[in-house]
Amino acid sequence: MIKIWFHKYELIPMAAIGAVADTRPRRGALLKCKWPNEVVGYADLFPWMELGDPLLEDHLIGLSQGKLSTLVEQSIWLAKKDADLRAQKKNAFVTYPKVKNHFLISDYQTFPDSVMKEMRAQGYTTFKVKCGRNFDEEARFVVRCLRQNPITVRLDFNSRASFSQIERFAAHFSPSEKARIEYVEDPMVWNPSAWSEASKVLPLALDLEYDRVNWELFSSRPPFSVIVIKPARQDVQKILQLVNRHGLKISVSNSLDHPVGMAHAALVAGELKKFYPNTVLDCSCITLRAYQTNDFVSRLQMNGPYIKQIPGTGIGFDTLLENTEWLSLQNLKK
Ligand code: MG
Repeated sequence: MIKIWFHKYELIPMAAIGAVADTRPRRGALLKCKWPNEVVGYADLFPWMELGDPLLEDHLIGLSQGKLSTLVEQSIWLAKKDADLRAQKKNAFVTYPKVKNHFLISDYQTFPDSVMKEMRAQGYTTFKVKCGRNFDEEARFVVRCLRQNPITVRLDFNSRASFSQIERFAAHFSPSEKARIEYVEDPMVWNPSAWSEASKVLPLALDLEYDRVNWELFSSRPPFSVIVIKPARQDVQKILQLVNRHGLKISVSNSLDHPVGMAHAALVAGELKKFYPNTVLDCSCITLRAYQTNDFVSRLQMNGPYIKQIPGTGIGFDTLLENTEWLSLQNLKK
């Protein structure tokens, strides 16, 4: 039996997060898991109700009753990776290769040129822009970014576009600018023929629409070339099989969660990079500036788009995690 404790926390967004969430504080919980051999590992649990996840309390109550949600299953899977490294006194960011991250522009309307300049100076070369609210304005912003900076962009439409909006969006770009759009994530709700048409306009990546895809349908290549893996939400081994079978590339992403969740995304990205060096593209493990800072953020030692180190064993944060107030699942009101 694994013994599990929890610690609830709140993250305060700096601005509206993408097309699906507003600026209200977001709640999650850290989990501490102890295996029968006394090995301890930590993970994050960060539901997104906007994506249909049950409330945080429902995940925890389920866990206290031995019913594991998909998110909790992933958290325990990640905690075990952390525990294994901690038991060997190894640090994930020394053990695995470094993975480059993109920089997320979650609200282009409040994104100053000075931050773009600063991030470029730090070494970021790929920027992801959350789109889906006003495609013409967003296209004009991206065109301006591309003209002023030698960068590549990834766009996330969060399933909000129609085919004609995608065509109209793409028309804002010259051929050479268009070539620097690495991909568009989730252009529209999954529909094989609509995606296939859209992929003739811009290269596509599969993120949240993953759950709707019937993989048996593809006799040849799917209409997307990249799959975004969120280890906090998805079965990584299962996706890897699909990636190998269909010749796809991977970008590992955090779940816009607590720094503990981000560190876990980085651990998985490093592991994948070690075994599939040519398959792993720039990732999105660390998202800075999405939320107000906290003690955990202060432990992230970045070297521009790379994590240099998070001191400690496993995913790091040792002293902070030791000093966290952990509650037993029995403390939950049923
Ligand atoms: Mg996405």
